[in-house]
Parts: sequence; C-alpha cells; structure tokens
Amino acid sequence: MINNKQGNVSKLHVLQDIFIKELPARLDAIEAEWNSGEVVNSEEFHRLLHSLSGSAGTFGFPRLGDTAHELELVIQQQKDSFADLECKLIIEQELLLLREIAQDGPDKKMLLRETRTERDNANSETPTLVYVLEDDINLAEETQQQLQHFGYHVEVFHTTKALHAGVARQVPDALLADIHLPEGSDAGPRAATELRKSTIQVVPVIFASGHNTWEDRLNAVRAGGQAYLSKPINMTLLIEQLDTVTGRKQESNYRIVIVEDTELLAKHYAAVLEDAGMQVEILNSPEKILDVLAVFRPDLILMDIYMPGCSGIEAAQDIRQHSGYTNMPIVYLSTEKALDQQLQALHVGGDDFLQKPINDSHLLAAVRIRARRFRELSALMNRDSLTGLLNHINLKLSLEREISQAVRRASRLSFVMLDIDKFKLVNDTYGHPVGDQVIKSLARLLAQRLRKGDVAARYGGEEFALILPDTSAEETYKLIEDLRLQFSKIIYSDTKGDFNTTFSAGIASSPPHNNMDQLITAADKALYKAKHQGRNQIILDVSSVSS
Ligand code: GH3
Ligand code: MG
Ligand code: MG
Ligand code: MG
Repeated sequence: MINNKQGNVSKLHVLQDIFIKELPARLDAIEAEWNSGEVVNSEEFHRLLHSLSGSAGTFGFPRLGDTAHELELVIQQQKDSFADLECKLIIEQELLLLREIAQDGPDKKMLLRETRTERDNANSETPTLVYVLEDDINLAEETQQQLQHFGYHVEVFHTTKALHAGVARQVPDALLADIHLPEGSDAGPRAATELRKSTIQVVPVIFASGHNTWEDRLNAVRAGGQAYLSKPINMTLLIEQLDTVTGRKQESNYRIVIVEDTELLAKHYAAVLEDAGMQVEILNSPEKILDVLAVFRPDLILMDIYMPGCSGIEAAQDIRQHSGYTNMPIVYLSTEKALDQQLQALHVGGDDFLQKPINDSHLLAAVRIRARRFRELSALMNRDSLTGLLNHINLKLSLEREISQAVRRASRLSFVMLDIDKFKLVNDTYGHPVGDQVIKSLARLLAQRLRKGDVAARYGGEEFALILPDTSAEETYKLIEDLRLQFSKIIYSDTKGDFNTTFSAGIASSPPHNNMDQLITAADKALYKAKHQGRNQIILDVSSVSS
C-alpha cells in the first residue's frame, strides 16, 4: 500500500473547495426559499439551514455554522406558519449575516486539517516489533524463529537489564515476558511495569510461565498483562494473542458506514477516516442500511440524526430490532444541542453523540475506540470455545449475509441443521467429558470436509449448522450423506467399552426460502422429521428440491 499522505490531505482540500464553490448557490437557495412566501415552518427552509449549520464548521466556516444554527432556533420557536414582524426582521438580518460571513472565506487556521499521527500508525509498513524476555536461551531462540514465520520482527533479551537498554533504543509493539528469571521470581512482571512507566506508548504484554501458580498469574495481571500462557507455549495460541493485542490486520481497516444526507459532509468524514486506513461506505439516506450491514459488515455506524424522510433515531431503532446487530456501535452525528434530544437518541440505542461541527481528530478517536472495542468483543464472542466453530449469533449473521448475496447473484444456497442422535445417552453412560470429545470430533470432521466459503457453526449443545453457498439441496444431500457414514464409523474408546454415534440432519435451500427465519425453520422441520422417522438419516425439505 502506498502511504499517500499528500493525496489524502488534498482530498480534504478538494472537498473544502467544492463546499466554498457551492456556498453562494446554497445561500441563494435559502434566500429564495424564504422569499417565496416567508413561511417560517417550510420544511425545505429548515432542511437547507440545518444542512448548512451541520457542515459549515467542518469546512472551515465555524461562524457560518453557528449563525445558521441560531437561525434554526429562531425558526423553531415560532409557533405560527408566518413570521410576525419582529421575527421577520431577525430572519432577514441573519440571512444577510450569512452572506457576509461566507464572503470572508474560511478561517485560515482551519484550512489544513491534520490527522497525521493516527494515519502514520495505521498505514505504516514496518513489521510489528516484539521483544521477548526469556532467560532460557534455546526457548528464546525457538520462539523467535516461530514468530518470525508469522511476520513478526523479534528481538530477544535474556535479562531485564538488556531489555531496558533495548526499550531505550526503540519501544516495541508488544512484549512477551517470562515470569521467573534468575533475577527473581517476579522479574518479568517487574520489567513490564518499568517498561510501562518509561514510555507513553501503550505496549501490550503477554506473560509466559512454566509454573502457573496463583501468585504468578496475580503478578502478571498486576503488571498489566493482557494474556497469560503456560509453558510449553502453544505457538498457535501465542500468535493469536499477539495478533489480537497488537491489532494486526484489524486496527487499520475498520469498516465504517456513514449515514448522512449532506453528501459533501459525508465525503469529508469518509476522507478523514480513510486517511486513518479505515474502509468507509456512505449512505445518503437510511433506507438501504440493512442491506449494507449484511454485506459490508461494518464495525460501527456513524448516523446523522436529522435527515429528510427518516430520522437517524428511527433508523437506529430499526437496526436494533435485528438480533444480529444489537451490539453494533452507533454514533450519532448532529447539530442538536438540546440535552433531552441527545438523551432520547442515546436511549433508543446509540453509543455516543458527536456534535457538529466535529473536530476531525475527535471524530477519528471516537470511531476508533468504539470500533476497536466492537472488534475485540466480536472476536471473543465469534467462536464457540469447545469446537472453534462459529457460534450461534455469528452463524445467523453469516446466514443473513450469505442469503442476500445468493439472492443478488441468483445462485443457490443450502442450509443444514444437524443433531447428534441420543446424545444424552452418551453423556449418561460415558460421562460429560467423553460427550465433549464426541462433539469435538464431529466439529473437526465438519471443518475438514467443508470447502472454502462454506460455514460451519455450533448451533447449540450437540446441534450444528452448515451454510453451503452455491450448492443445491441435492448436492448438499450427497455431501452430508458421506459425512453421516463417516461419522457413524468413528469408534470412541472408553473404559466402559467402545461405542459409536450417529447424527440426523435436515436440509433446506434458498431459493425457495430467501428469508433467514424461513430457511432455518424449513431445515429444522426436516431435521425433526429425520429424528421422528428413526434418526441416523437425512431429510430434504420438500420445497427445496429443484424440479
Ligand atoms: P435426539 O436423538 O432426539 O437428539 O436425542 P438427544 O439425547 O441427543 O437429545 P436431547 O436434546 O434430549 O439431549 C441433548 C443432550 O446434549 C443434553 C445435554 O446435556 C447434552 N449437551 C449439550 N451440550 C453439551 C456439551 O457441550 N457437552 C456435552 N457433553 N453434552 C452436552
Ligand atoms: Mg442531515
Ligand atoms: Mg440430539
Ligand atoms: Mg438437540
């Protein structure tokens, strides 16, 4: 990726130039609307003013924005359609004032809006630097080699003194520290604490220990450790943790949806966020929001409150009604200064309220913090801990997305519900841990047999769900039939004797079921039928069979 700083700064300038160029016509339109009948509560008059008051500050005309806002308030306080003489005078004065301020041009100091520091971090090409504090020379070297395979740049230190010298030279992006060193049984946590004090940069720390005592873990937590691994270190786990704490591949490319009717303003926000490496999708009205959510899967929605047709608050309510999006961060953008309106907005499911004109770095910080938090929570919640498969919530999110994609591409998609037979008996006979092994083995079998693009999820206790894009119900039947035979041949050994298990499955497809709930219900009914007819078999939903 090219670090195109110049390009982005000038993009902001281009947008500002457009604003300046269009400004006289905008003022003309406001005046024309007023002169056309001097109607105070003309919706168009309100809309034009509101749009100006919300955007002027962003493009370097804060006073223009404030004046437009004042005018808005004057109008709002009028109860009658037509202005009395005093009100009329005020409005006309303010309209003149708008002209004057506009002619003065933008405040010079706002011409160049800096968002550099954020973006330098986000787009930097330098590999992530990890310091490893480990007195065991062989282990340190092995860890270094492994991490480098995954693209990390690693420096090894055998003593805390050497580590401090290293930090003085360059602050790392993360620290992996042993807990016990020859210097003391809590030398690692102490070194981490010192590292934290020595720099304003936030350095995440992961601890590794061979002892795994309560005291070790407590020291690790007190020293601000973000993760604690037992030795021997599971490398996959370590990489996963490092990726998470250093925000690799995540940090820079948050996906943000901006819903804002003032096009130029939306573009400006987008430029600021893109500047920090984020991906942005703009909607100038909220009607299509659910489609965009399903396909684009944003980490956050920036929602204008005042839009013609449907307010941002209504749109947020609609979004919250869909189970998959109850946690999606929604940040409102608005000129509303009234506290009760802000409270109402938050009450119906918003996370924050940014007041226009919004300072660029404030916007970026607000978006970043919430998008990051959302990602962290999603990462924790995405997968089922026993099987590593997608969990129920994310299965539904995926399904919604896949269905809308299949409908758009006019392709077929199959959905499978799968349930282990008489599983309660397995638990009762061999114990819960053995039952867990059976669940895991089926999960592994599913993950192994699926193609890229297929989705496997743990739907509930011993229930699984599969999404197979571009696959007809008949093709799916063949695949699941294979799996059924394979699974039934797995022999589990136990002190109580060997045993095997089977599963039943129901299959449905889209079309005809182009709606998620319908599709799930159809597959579930087919599964129920399979159980009812004797288990260890697969039933195809009748209407899903292609003619
Ligand atoms: P059927 O053939 O009708 O599906 O019978 P079943 O016994 O499999 O169905 P039922 O729904 O009655 O029982 C499911 C059992 O699965 C009950 C529950 O204790 C067990 N179970 C759910 N989650 C887990 C899990 O994570 N581990 C283990 N070992 N058992 C689980
Ligand atoms: Mg608006
Ligand atoms: Mg069962
Ligand atoms: Mg069940």
